[in-house]
Amino acid sequence: MKKPNKTDTLLQHGDALPGDDSSVAPPIHPSVTFSAVDAADFADMAGRPMHARYYTRYGNPTLERTAKLVAALEGGEAGLLTASGMGAISAVLIGLLRAGDHVVAQKNHYLGTTRLLSELLPRYGVRATLVDQTRIDAFEAAIEPSTRLMMIETPVNPTLALTDIAAVCALARARGLLTVADNTFASPINQRPLALGVDVVVHSATKYLGGHHDLTAGAIVGSAATIGRVWETAIVLGSVLAPHDAWLLLRGMRTLAVRVERVNASAARIAAFLDAHPGVACVHYPGLTSHPQHALAVRQMRGFGGVMALQVKGGYREAERVMSRLSLFTQAVSLGGVESLAAHAAAMWAGTLSDDALREAGIEPNLIRLSVGLEDVDDLIADLDQALGA
Ligand SMILES: *Cc1c(COP(=O)(O)O)cnc(C)c1O
Repeated sequence: MKKPNKTDTLLQHGDALPGDDSSVAPPIHPSVTFSAVDAADFADMAGRPMHARYYTRYGNPTLERTAKLVAALEGGEAGLLTASGMGAISAVLIGLLRAGDHVVAQKNHYLGTTRLLSELLPRYGVRATLVDQTRIDAFEAAIEPSTRLMMIETPVNPTLALTDIAAVCALARARGLLTVADNTFASPINQRPLALGVDVVVHSATKYLGGHHDLTAGAIVGSAATIGRVWETAIVLGSVLAPHDAWLLLRGMRTLAVRVERVNASAARIAAFLDAHPGVACVHYPGLTSHPQHALAVRQMRGFGGVMALQVKGGYREAERVMSRLSLFTQAVSLGGVESLAAHAAAMWAGTLSDDALREAGIEPNLIRLSVGLEDVDDLIADLDQALGA
C-alpha cells in the first residue's frame, strides 16, 4: 500500500517509528540517557547528528516521534521540538545567522520575536529591518547586500494582518535568502508555508498543536540539512522539551484537524455576528470579505482559524466594560486551546509597550482579541451579545 498522506490519517499514524513496540498509544521515554552496545557504538552515537538514543538534550524517542508528526503535517523532511515557541524561534535565528548578517522581518510579530530581532540579536551583530508586512515592495526595498534571511508571521498577532507568503519567497529565492515563517496562528491544518516556498516553519506548539492550554512547547520544520544546522545550536542553547510534555503534545495533536475545523466554522459565525453588531466598530478576521487582504487569505489559507480581533465602539473603558461582562470567554492571554479566551490587547501589553509602541503595532485601546474554543457556538455568540450590551 502507498504511504498514506492525508492529514486525518497522518495525525493518527504519521509518527510511528521503526522498531516501536506493540502498544497502540505511544510510549513515554523519560530516560535521560541511552545505553550503547560497546565503545564503537558509543562513539558513533555521540558523533552522529540528531541521534535520538544518546542523551535527551540531543534526542529522545518520544521527542523524535512527536517531531516526526509535526514535520509530516507541515510537509517537511525533518522536525525538531523545543521547550517553547520562543525556544524554537531563537534556536532558528541564532542557528542560521552570524555577526554581520541582516534580517528583513515584520513591524508586527509576536512580541518575543520582535524583542529577539530588535534587542537581543543586535547585541551579537545581527541587524534587522522591520517592514509593513502587507507591502511586498517594503520587503524588497529593505533588502541589503548583507541580508541573509526573511522572517514572516501570518496571520499576525493581534491584528490578523497577512503576509503574502509566495511573494516573499519569490523575492528571497531570487537572492538566495532563507525564509522562516511562524505558522502558529494558522496551524498546518489551515496553511502550509513550506508548500508556498518557505524554508523553515516555526510553531508555538503551546497554541493549536497542543491545543489544551496545558503545555508549553515549540516546533521547527524544514529540510533535513537545515534542521541539522539548527539542531547543532539547539543542543547548546538547551531549550529541551520534557518527554512527558512531548507525549502530551502528541496526544493533543491526534485531534488537531477536528479541533481546527470546528473553530474555523465557529469563528466564521462569530465574526459575521460581530461584524453586524451595532456595538462593534470593526472586526479583524481574514475569513470576512471585509478583511482588506481577504483575497490573499483565500489564496494561501484553507481555513481562517479561530483567532480574531474586534474593536468595540468607544475606547479603552468600553473595551474594559465588555471584557468584564464576558463569562464564557475567559480573560487570559494565549490562544489555540479548547477553552475560548479573550484578551484586551492594550491592557495585556500596557506593562511592556509604551502608548506609541502600542499604536505603532496597531493595538488600538478598544481592541479585544478572541480565541474561539470548542464551546457551543450559539452559547459563545450569546455571551458576546450580552457583554456588548444593547
Ligand atoms: C505564543 C506565540 C509565540 C511564543 O510561543 P511560546 O510557546 O509562548 O514561547 C510565538 N509566536 C506566536 C505567533 C505566538 O502566538
